[in-house]
Amino acid sequence: MHEYHSSPAREYKIEVKDRDMNQILVIGSLNMDVVVRMERLPALGETVLGEEYWNNPGGKGANQAYAARLAGGQVAMLGSVGTDKYGVRMLELLEKAGVQVMDIQRDSGQSTGTAFVLTGTDGSNSIVVVPGANSTCSSEYLAENAELFSKAACVLLQLEIPLESVCSAIRQAKTLGKLVILNPAPARQDIPEDLFPLLDVITPNETELSVLTGGPAGTVEEIEQSAKLLLYKGVRNVVVTLGARGSLIVNQNGALLVPARKVSAVDTTGAGDCFNGVLAVALSAGMPLEKAVLRANLAASISVTRRGALTSMPTLEDLESLWQ
Ligand code: ADP
Repeated sequence: MHEYHSSPAREYKIEVKDRDMNQILVIGSLNMDVVVRMERLPALGETVLGEEYWNNPGGKGANQAYAARLAGGQVAMLGSVGTDKYGVRMLELLEKAGVQVMDIQRDSGQSTGTAFVLTGTDGSNSIVVVPGANSTCSSEYLAENAELFSKAACVLLQLEIPLESVCSAIRQAKTLGKLVILNPAPARQDIPEDLFPLLDVITPNETELSVLTGGPAGTVEEIEQSAKLLLYKGVRNVVVTLGARGSLIVNQNGALLVPARKVSAVDTTGAGDCFNGVLAVALSAGMPLEKAVLRANLAASISVTRRGALTSMPTLEDLESLWQ
């Protein structure tokens, strides 16, 4: 089944200390994007007429929490929204899906995070991101919610809240012996070195891997070599997502390519978020890493056949109908 592995594939089991608790704690961003479609983007200083605009709920944190919940996980989220209508809608959306949102911070001094996306009919775009309340998701606020950390089997994070908060949350989770998954997106180079040994799983895409390590990430062999740099830094498992090629697991057992299901993709927005949310659910349930990655690939392959990010996440039934 696997086209590539640099050493014999062996099942690799990740120990989940508090598996009975079975809860996934997602710590990250919540955004409500505004997308405007127009024939062509305005030049500097120019005004053009837009054709239509709409809101897209998102933020990597919210997307991953939503994906994990839909895939059957018991999910709580920590993050920060404004008290504006966008914040209220984000909380409603997550709560309706069954994500525990009661500890998400409502910051009256900030607007909910928003990306203003201008899209031209020729596919060009210009984007302005206003992090808003995401930037006040502080270490202090996270520390105040210690109980959620204790209750979790697994803590899943990304990099759309302050890096300092991500670092302190990871330290807090690891002190309690929790399974920690970091999706290092969007890409950045300045992750403190002492954080890597605290990561059970890191899930960069090719670009993020290259930015993180400074190494090439084109061929599968190059990706394996670059991923190994993260193993040397102390990460236990590197899972590189490779779009339509699937995902590459690199750990002490070697490297294993888990191919993607062949589908005709219509919109890959949120594929990585879907992958991470479902991976967290599978690992928290005690699935071996190879199988968990296969399941996350399957989920993400469904999401790319649907439009949108949050709106494209598969349900548990969708997954089970294709899972063998
Ligand atoms: P990101 O969205 O973060 O850039 P990727 O593009 O690597 O991440 O996609 C994440 C995962 O989504 C992949 O590992 C794969 O499982 C799945 N995926 C993405 N694009 C496709 C595709 N065209 N066909 C099938 N699966 C895909």
